[in-house]
Amino acid sequence: MKKNYLKTDICKECGGKCCKHMPGIAHPCDFKKPLEESLIEAFRSGHWAIDWYDGDPVKYRYKLHNVLFIRPKVKGVSELFDPTWGGECIFLAYDGCTLKPLERPRGCRLMEPITTNKCLLHGGDKAACTRPWIPYQKVILKAARAVGESIKNAHRSEAPSSMEQILGI
Ligand code: SF4
Ligand code: SF4
Repeated sequence: MKKNYLKTDICKECGGKCCKHMPGIAHPCDFKKPLEESLIEAFRSGHWAIDWYDGDPVKYRYKLHNVLFIRPKVKGVSELFDPTWGGECIFLAYDGCTLKPLERPRGCRLMEPITTNKCLLHGGDKAACTRPWIPYQKVILKAARAVGESIKNAHRSEAPSSMEQILGI
């Protein structure tokens, strides 16, 4: 699979229809190593949120629930732990994405604009985008703790409040 399918001229003309619907999901490789330090920096910027997949992203295999992943924040939501569905990405400006093309989340880079009305999603569905984060659940929670946040503060839905206990942190 290619690393990106960006066609910024088409996206500019489109005005970011997908970005107004929901931010793209990041991949752990979108952040520099060590991941924990990069996540701390990202969380301090106020531009990134911790979301989770409501279900098991690897059905019948790990019996995992509420696997955490990272995505840009949605405008108007300040909480770090945010399972909100839908909303405009914080990086979208009137003339398109404010991130440099290769610094955009993998989920965004793998959207292939064909025309402004037709785009192909090469990155897979939400479960597929969540799976690469499975090995990094502790790292995410430790980075959140470092900026004074806890998953126990998540209050918008049935928070995976047992996650810290399960992971032993
Ligand atoms: S990927 Fe498609 S929907 Fe998203 S901004 Fe580009 S053209 Fe528009
Ligand atoms: S990061 Fe950029 S390309 Fe991705 S959803 Fe946000 S505004 Fe759109």
